[in-house]
Amino acid sequence: MAYKTINPYTNELVKEYPNATADDVENALSAGHQLFKKWEHETPESRANQLHEIAQLFRDHQAQLAKAMVTDMGKLYREAQGEVELCAMIADYFADHGTKLLAPTKIETIATGDAQIQKHSLGVLMMVEPWNFPMYQIMRVFAPNFMVGNPMILKHASNTPGSAVAFENVIKKSAAPNASLQNMFLSYDQVSEIIADSRVQGVALTGSERGGRSVAKTAGENLKKNTMELGGTDAFIVLDDADIDSVADIAWRARLYNAGQVCTSSKRFIVSANLYDQFLKNLKENFANVKPGDPMDSQTTLAPMNSKRAKEKLQDQVDKAIENGATVYYGNEKVDLPGQFFQPTILTNIEKNNPVYSEEMFGPVAQVYKVNSDQEAIDLANDSDLGLGGIVFSGDPKRGTKVASQIETGMVFVNNFMASLPDLPFGGVKNSGYGREMSQLGLNAFVNEQLIVTA
Ligand code: NDP
Repeated sequence: MAYKTINPYTNELVKEYPNATADDVENALSAGHQLFKKWEHETPESRANQLHEIAQLFRDHQAQLAKAMVTDMGKLYREAQGEVELCAMIADYFADHGTKLLAPTKIETIATGDAQIQKHSLGVLMMVEPWNFPMYQIMRVFAPNFMVGNPMILKHASNTPGSAVAFENVIKKSAAPNASLQNMFLSYDQVSEIIADSRVQGVALTGSERGGRSVAKTAGENLKKNTMELGGTDAFIVLDDADIDSVADIAWRARLYNAGQVCTSSKRFIVSANLYDQFLKNLKENFANVKPGDPMDSQTTLAPMNSKRAKEKLQDQVDKAIENGATVYYGNEKVDLPGQFFQPTILTNIEKNNPVYSEEMFGPVAQVYKVNSDQEAIDLANDSDLGLGGIVFSGDPKRGTKVASQIETGMVFVNNFMASLPDLPFGGVKNSGYGREMSQLGLNAFVNEQLIVTA
């Protein structure tokens, strides 16, 4: 059985889940399609209360939902609690604003008559999600599409099945139809079959570039609209006038949150030469202060990585970086605990020919670079095939914003931690993917923007 929970703190096999059968797949497609047809005759407004109820159920079952995530992939319990609250916020946001955001809009036209755009549902969606935020990733797609009227089939990551079941159970407890979200333990081939089915009209994937390429290829072959939210090597740029104390406060958290396993984690710290030594000293102190341990313990500040495989992959990357000339400024020592812990590590002296210069490091490892001008910082930040997010620090917000607008990514925050909120669009450019989730842009991802001209 491919789907299983192995607790990365205890290494214990908690539970295995049987794969879906061909009958399960057909039943899910049929139920999803029937719901799509029913929802076509109902307004988004009629679904808003059900989505509010889902938000409330998330809050009511916060502890249980958070524990499911901790057991599946090891994140800190308090971060898991925050993730449950974020899910509730997203559901509430789309329940409150979905109707307005989906309202018809008029177009000024030279055509005879009145022109308007109406927004209609498309059909069943195939949703493929990763393990790093096992509930928030689902909610980002679920809440807006629930309002649009697109029923969803979920294929979650094979190491977070407990979270997928827990999420689905919330929907089952609510007044929302069960077919609005159907979690299935699918093989890659079954995902392809579902995408090819005529009842399915859209595909949303969050995950790696490799997974994205494969699923996007199937979607393309079948002419199915799709959104791809892939990886990032986000830059954290410190300009020469930045307030070094607030930089220090945010830098370590921007790298170590969720054990560094965030697509928008700051991964490349690009620091002005005048602040470089102080920046490194501060980052080292903050990295050295974290406390690895039981993710359920409120004193723990560093979670294990999600799996043995992920930890080994990161260690290989660090080893390769060192072989190719990088310096370990701090870390890279064994953590004396049984779980999948990786000591926070700082790498410097990474040259362009070092393989990790252009790789995403999905864990608690910071690459730090020294630059001599804003332009050098921008060029280095943009010297990547990925383009998801980024942070710029400057004592002058206008200068920070000017630099931010030259970074080739989908999102940049100036003088702050990168946040993901329901009213802000989320997504990238280049090999970080295409399309947006959340906000009005995310809501539009899977709608038929139908033109109606009435003479
Ligand atoms: P993967 O792409 O391997 O997994 C993500 C999901 O895709 C899983 O459900 C996985 O299933 C599934 N999947 C992968 N290949 C296929 C396929 N050919 N057909 C169908 N489903 C497939 O990513 P990782 O687990 O490695 O996740 C980490 C990556 O995701 C990082 O690169 C990270 O940056 C990126 N990411 C991007 C985010 C964003 O919002 N842009 C957010 C979070 C992570 P299975 O588990 O069964 O293999």
